[in-house]
Amino acid sequence: MRDTGSYSEILKREGLKNTKHRNAILKVIENSDQPIDAEQIFFELKKKDIAINLSSVYRILESLVSKNLLIKSNISGANKALYELNCLKHTHYLICSRCKKMFSVEGCPLEEYEKKLAAETEFEITGHKLEIYGLCKDCKQNNIAD
Ligand SMILES: [Zn+2]
Ligand SMILES: [Zn+2]
Repeated sequence: MRDTGSYSEILKREGLKNTKHRNAILKVIENSDQPIDAEQIFFELKKKDIAINLSSVYRILESLVSKNLLIKSNISGANKALYELNCLKHTHYLICSRCKKMFSVEGCPLEEYEKKLAAETEFEITGHKLEIYGLCKDCKQNNIAD
């Protein structure tokens, strides 16, 4: 497990103002059980009657990515960037290359490897990404039926 401070503390530490919009966006991402794209975030904010435009959502997302608060991933095969919190949860996903569903994986297989690598290379490792691709159970069954 990594730093599990609340994001308002992280914002403060990064010198970012704890603005209403920024907070609302982080909350939407935190409440989402999987990485979420900017339009979905925009839609969730709208549901909460938060007045913001899509370009502001993108701008705030980019500033949070540049501060390493969010991880931005471009899933291959989908032309949308997905955002997830960097500090609060560390999750890996199995991604179905047919239906694009994502399934979170318990735990991280790379923690020990990171430590070993850091010791060997004197690298200060700040994170990693790991995505595992394949066919989900449903798609696999449909595949056989074809
Ligand atoms: Zn599938
Ligand atoms: Zn990991």
